[in-house]
Amino acid sequence: MRHLSNLLITVALAAIAGPAAASLDPPAWTRPIAPFPVIGAIDYVGSEGLAAYLIHTPAGAILIDGTMEQNADAVARNIVARGVKLRDVKLILVSHAHFDHVGAVAALKRMSGAKLVAGAGDETALDSGIPPGETNYGVVRFPAAHVNRAVRNGERIALGGVTLTAVATPGHTPGCTSYKMRILQRGKPLDVLFACSLTVAGNRLVGNRAYPGIVGDFRTSFDRIGALQADVVLPFHPEMTDLMDRVARHTLIDRTVLPKMVQDARAAFAVELAKQQKQP
Ligand code: ZN
Repeated sequence: MRHLSNLLITVALAAIAGPAAASLDPPAWTRPIAPFPVIGAIDYVGSEGLAAYLIHTPAGAILIDGTMEQNADAVARNIVARGVKLRDVKLILVSHAHFDHVGAVAALKRMSGAKLVAGAGDETALDSGIPPGETNYGVVRFPAAHVNRAVRNGERIALGGVTLTAVATPGHTPGCTSYKMRILQRGKPLDVLFACSLTVAGNRLVGNRAYPGIVGDFRTSFDRIGALQADVVLPFHPEMTDLMDRVARHTLIDRTVLPKMVQDARAAFAVELAKQQKQP
């Protein structure tokens, strides 16, 4: 737990929205930090500003997201520092096909030999390295990584007695996928949700020819994720739930986080949609 003092970082990022032009990326996205335990068998192995989670199981580990391409070695070192040999990472799951979350996945897949699991709607993007949809910041490519299993809403992913359930939360990308799992904490069951981004983040909402169903998908996702209950929300932009702070202060278990997150996302979406409808 001694690392945690380093992690009481006020990440003063005005823009938590997602990809921007590469030169404008927040420095925290590529700043290495020491890995740390989050809760149960879940560790944080990402950079300061982008989350990657490692779930230990008796049959090897599951990695969720890889963060940016240039972080691959740092994430690999963090995995090893948490006692897992790279070849024991058996599955890599991804939240969504944007460069800031999957840039390092191709390299981490190569290093580990893990199978790649992603939302079906992002399969083509991952296989090609070209992100889906149309945005106001252009196309930021990432190294292509072959998807071994494309999952849809409700499908289960199991390894070593640990089961995650895919919760399709499309909109931010067509295959944006959250994952839920139940853990036991001192004999008490807790529902943990790895939450894919719900932000518009530069996506074209009006006249998006590459993703015509985007508005309906966002609304479906708000309803779907809004109907869930989570004791612990683990986001991929850690500042979204003040993750480091919550871990350090032991306030990670908080059922109010998810409803608040969904409410804020719905409100921000409505504002952005109205803006784009005025000036498409
Ligand atoms: Zn994104």
